[in-house]
Amino acid sequence: MNLVTRYMTKNDCYPEGRKITPAGIMVHSTATPGVMAYRWFELWNKSYKAGEMNREVCVHAFVDDTVVLQTLPWDMRALHAGGRANSTHIGFEICEPSGFTYIENSMSGYDAEAQEPYFRAVFTASVELCAYLCGLFDLTPDSIISHNEGYARGIASNHADVMHWFTKHGESMDTFRAAVKTKLTEQEAQNMTKEAFDALMMSYRDENDPLYKTLDDVPPYWKDDAAHLVSKGAIKGDNVHSLGIRRSELKAVIISKRYADSLLGLSAEAEK
Ligand SMILES: [Zn+2]
Repeated sequence: MNLVTRYMTKNDCYPEGRKITPAGIMVHSTATPGVMAYRWFELWNKSYKAGEMNREVCVHAFVDDTVVLQTLPWDMRALHAGGRANSTHIGFEICEPSGFTYIENSMSGYDAEAQEPYFRAVFTASVELCAYLCGLFDLTPDSIISHNEGYARGIASNHADVMHWFTKHGESMDTFRAAVKTKLTEQEAQNMTKEAFDALMMSYRDENDPLYKTLDDVPPYWKDDAAHLVSKGAIKGDNVHSLGIRRSELKAVIISKRYADSLLGLSAEAEK
């Protein structure tokens, strides 16, 4: 995610500076073919009250295939939902590519195969943006909704975004939320402290390659060989335990012992 911050200081939302406590994220797409993030900045960095815009509108960010352009502080109230969600949700717009026209809320002439690379780029960047915001405001992926889901819940106006577009690429808001969840899990794994990582590795090791502290811990099929190696001083413990050897180590030692025994015509039993 190439996050660039450039606030739309001339948009009325900015000087008004009303704060929100983000409780969720609303995903929009622009329904305007081919207008990319920096162009939207120019179009919306204007004052509705001064008559410079014909719509009173503002979002927190625009996403295209080159940039995630943050245009308003995340906790400043924007006007993106046409409903109550403005006071609760961070809103961002995914820019739609050129090469089709809108006819009655559908993308006429849209070539999903040709647009797949662009779609994948903005889908991924949007997932990353949402994961970032979830971390910043302690939000869960379940708090992410599209504009059309917001309408279904009665907190946003009647718009079709983003489902008119996502479905053309086999995606939905459920797959989007799942992708954010996966991203968050990955980030958690990356952010794990060395201490936590070491503890996890140790418990994994103990589970899969247990430490035999004494002869009593050794499984029956290896017990005689192990006892013989101890009695001959070949295994001397690990300064903590009388045996102190891991399963994989004991296995290697016993293979060697049995091979040596076979060369010498001996066995643990024969020596007893
Ligand atoms: Zn929308």
